[in-house]
Amino acid sequence: MPDANVPRTLLQLLKLRLPAMLSTLRPLVEAESPSLEKIPADRCCGLLATEWRKRGLRVERISQKHRGDHLRVTWPQKSRSAGQLLVLGHYDTVYATGTLAKMPFRVSSAKVYGPGTFDMKAGIVQALFAVEALQRLKAPLRHHIVFLWTSDEEIGSQTSRKLIESEARRSEAVFVLEPALGPRGLLKTSRKGVGEAEIIVHGHASHAGLAPEEGVNAVHELAAQISRLHEWNDPRRGISVNADVVEGGTRVNVIAERARALVDLRALYANDMCRIERRLHSLRPSVRGARLEIHGGFNRAPMERKMSAALFDRAKSLAAQMGYALGECTAGGGSDGNLTAALGIPTLDGLGAVGDGAHSPREHIQINAMPLRSALLAALLAAS
Ligand SMILES: [Zn+2]
Repeated sequence: MPDANVPRTLLQLLKLRLPAMLSTLRPLVEAESPSLEKIPADRCCGLLATEWRKRGLRVERISQKHRGDHLRVTWPQKSRSAGQLLVLGHYDTVYATGTLAKMPFRVSSAKVYGPGTFDMKAGIVQALFAVEALQRLKAPLRHHIVFLWTSDEEIGSQTSRKLIESEARRSEAVFVLEPALGPRGLLKTSRKGVGEAEIIVHGHASHAGLAPEEGVNAVHELAAQISRLHEWNDPRRGISVNADVVEGGTRVNVIAERARALVDLRALYANDMCRIERRLHSLRPSVRGARLEIHGGFNRAPMERKMSAALFDRAKSLAAQMGYALGECTAGGGSDGNLTAALGIPTLDGLGAVGDGAHSPREHIQINAMPLRSALLAALLAAS
């Protein structure tokens, strides 16, 4: 079969598999898998393992003590010299066990509702059927493919980070199945780096009426620091710095001895990230006698567009062969794609489901987009 027909053939095949995709999605959604609850998460992991085994892939369960197990699925190819591609996703959700009773798996006007449908169980289903379609087509692949399904992305990937990074280092490209943006299914070709800082001010308590001059007001000092931070915002460069939690003081007539702020940090470019971190840690008190204690910084570097550009061009041309105009966007939030891009591995994100309402009671996917998204992933794996 001539190469040019592969994407279209994949799409035709996958359109026929839509009912099977939905019946695979349902038990996965109904197996609730909150990041913080190991037992239910493991049950969902078991279901996933079965689905991958059914397709003849090698499945390895990486057991975790406090979180759901991670799943590494490998699809080796015949050629020994072949490199590796990594397909990355998570099966944990932000919903506690029991959420399903209030927001059940439900199909209504071409949408599927339910916890974790959009973020990102439908994405995993699309990957399952992408593999099946490639197997049916007997499309020759030039790369071994590793799929990593992790259990703690929604809580910062503490237990999966090393695994993701070491698998990414062995890979030539990473495809991330996080949800797409908007009804047109935009891919995420850049993501802001994300961080969190804590600023603690130590002052000196004193009677606000009898001896105000003996006090050092930690709340005033914190206010001065926060207005300094505010100046660092630069929307044009994608820099945002926001003190979102503040606390301090004890009583209205006591000069505040202590105050504290939690600060959200975002940057689109790595050099801005470094600059913000440097400035943060070189803050000095403006009130005499106050002392600052500063913790934290960025925990995910930005996924800069240059890490996605070539893969996006490839995806766009494959989508065009299927008759679709694929768009792109920047995401203000991080994903595990930030981790792989920061290692210098080309990364394309937002390849998962099309839908809306992630992390909310109206979370849903667009059913009709599933075959196209699945075909796009399959075509990317075949063309890379
Ligand atoms: Zn997600």
